[in-house]
Amino acid sequence: MNFRYAKRMANLGTETAFEVLAKAKKLEAEGKHIIHLEIGEPDFPTPDNICDAAIKSIKAGDTHYTPSNGIIELRTSIAKYMSRTRGIEFHPDEVVVTPGGKPIMFYAIIALIDEGDEVIYPNPGFPIYESMIKFMGGIPVPIKLREEKGFAFDPEDLKKLITPKTKMLIMNTPQNPTGGILTKEDILKIGEILKDKDIWVLSDEIYSRLIFRGEHFSIATIPGFKDRTILLDGFSKYYAMTGWRAGFGVMSKELAPMISRLMTNSNSCTNTFVQKGCIEALEGPQDSVDKMRAEFLARRDIIVDGLNSIKGFSCIVPDGAFYVFPNITKTGYKSRDLNDHLLYKGNVAALSGTAFGEYGEGYLRFSYANSRENIKEAIKRIKEVI
Ligand code: PLP
Repeated sequence: MNFRYAKRMANLGTETAFEVLAKAKKLEAEGKHIIHLEIGEPDFPTPDNICDAAIKSIKAGDTHYTPSNGIIELRTSIAKYMSRTRGIEFHPDEVVVTPGGKPIMFYAIIALIDEGDEVIYPNPGFPIYESMIKFMGGIPVPIKLREEKGFAFDPEDLKKLITPKTKMLIMNTPQNPTGGILTKEDILKIGEILKDKDIWVLSDEIYSRLIFRGEHFSIATIPGFKDRTILLDGFSKYYAMTGWRAGFGVMSKELAPMISRLMTNSNSCTNTFVQKGCIEALEGPQDSVDKMRAEFLARRDIIVDGLNSIKGFSCIVPDGAFYVFPNITKTGYKSRDLNDHLLYKGNVAALSGTAFGEYGEGYLRFSYANSRENIKEAIKRIKEVI
């Protein structure tokens, strides 16, 4: 066979979480009991009011195409929600609804990055950033998240990485994989550094309501930053809707139609009755979000204490999301080896820090989106095999 694949496919990365999940499922098929602390999704069911709204909608016949950027009712709800939570005004024409938050990364990078453009992105960080930058022929420029800064990056490091070729900065707060947050002071400093430069900002705020200290602050609210920022958010994490595939981007009125055109060229639109469920998510009762957050906070404390009681582990207390990122250098293992050891000997699935970039060496990522009992059992098992 002499068929050739497109060269660009060699540059497309992946998310290791799905590979570890596959390995863990194989072990389960062989009869092992695995505790899953590798995958980043809430273990709660989607609240009933949201499910009911989607079911009602499908029965009412909402089973056809919608405009590519989303139905106006949902875009209006999102604009109101974003204005309320970020503290500046957003218009429905600045919103593009997508199947999950992830496509906003994909589309923003396609729309804004040319070959040779440099993109600064957090490392360790969500692996799709680097994957997409490379796929578009951009040059990925990692900015190191520093454990001693609670896994924020140092604005001074940012200054050093900016060159005339820098086209975009990707920020993520609260952060995956470390659970770290960027404080308002840090974000204001970042704003100062960028203010006179033509650099886009992709601000991934998908965990903005899962924050345990202080308040979420968006760079888009700094005067002059709204139109250069693509704000990514979505329904997956706070409403336990990962499988519904519902997210959105908020951006300038000039960029929004371009992202919408990318939607027309790919998905056509986001699922119609899912969009109706999303309206209920934003406008219905929010107590389930508060309950989930409180439960995550309790679990965070259990897992941090547990990990710190394991020889060779040291784990700082993260301020957001549902991940912990313990330093494991003193165990003497490399991250990947320890990850395999815990999976095959301890039956605990986690992720190697290196799944999130080179600066993840020396760390593991645990998602604590699992029951308190399972978290305690996982700690016990880890202790037994270390
Ligand atoms: N951004 C970050 C930092 C994430 O961790 C994730 C999911 O794990 C996403 C975006 C994608 O979210 P969605 O499932 O809505 O596409």
